[in-house]
Amino acid sequence: MLQHDVHDCMPPPRRFRLLMRCYNCMGESAKVIDFGDDEDAPADIEELMESVAVNQIRFQCTECESAIGTIIGVSQSKGRRV
Ligand SMILES: [Zn+2]
Repeated sequence: MLQHDVHDCMPPPRRFRLLMRCYNCMGESAKVIDFGDDEDAPADIEELMESVAVNQIRFQCTECESAIGTIIGVSQSKGRRV
């Protein structure tokens, strides 16, 4: 073994960025959810949307402090690797 890359055996970080819109004032705010290397973490956006985690996000509008928000967009961070 001439090459040994320790990163090869590490799972990519599961980090998602949610774009949410406030139900009250329609203001948009972004929220990052980082599952780290949790084995139960969703692997992609589809799994995230089906998971219970997405329903447990505590939203609070930065403008009016409303707790009701709608998810209008999701993106996934590909992790530390370039
Ligand atoms: Zn608001």
